[in-house]
Amino acid sequence: MVSEKSGVIQPEPVTLIAYMPLFQSPQMSTKPCKECCEPIQLAAKRCPHCYQLQSPFVTFLRNGGAVVFFLAILAFMVYQSQIEKKEFKDYTSKVIVGSSTVHVEGTDDMSYVSCLTIAKNDSPVGLRDLQVEAKFYDANGQLIDVTQQRLKSSFLPANGEAGVRVLERAARSASAYQRCELQILDAVCR
Ligand SMILES: [Zn+2]
Repeated sequence: MVSEKSGVIQPEPVTLIAYMPLFQSPQMSTKPCKECCEPIQLAAKRCPHCYQLQSPFVTFLRNGGAVVFFLAILAFMVYQSQIEKKEFKDYTSKVIVGSSTVHVEGTDDMSYVSCLTIAKNDSPVGLRDLQVEAKFYDANGQLIDVTQQRLKSSFLPANGEAGVRVLERAARSASAYQRCELQILDAVCR
């Protein structure tokens, strides 16, 4: 179109037409499918066209919720691993140490005494790096020697048993060691 006065070409006036979304349903009881945008019943759990589930949970997952969901699970697992980090005292009553036998080896100049027992672990966790105490008694029942040791790489399996041995230089003459008692003081739970 050419203007009569200036002779300058003017753009044609644009007629605005109200835009009507294609999927807007005349019925208010429908909604667009979350996947294919076809109108489906408001109460529909699954789209009859593309079979996409319409639950809020699916929407949540589709809107990046999967990442949030995953992080929440991860956080929960970390939390669980923390609260399940039990201490030995939680299982003390489940660990039963049997009767111990004492052995003395070597010469009178250089003798070693050992206290040997079987420990039974009725707890659901394995116990490792046992810290044990062995008490040694003479024929009169007098305490003559005691030792505490952290038995590195020792392991008492969950719902199982294992032999435990403490070995030490004898502080008294070999014949003095008649009896011993072994006790588990601490352990690393896993
Ligand atoms: Zn659909």
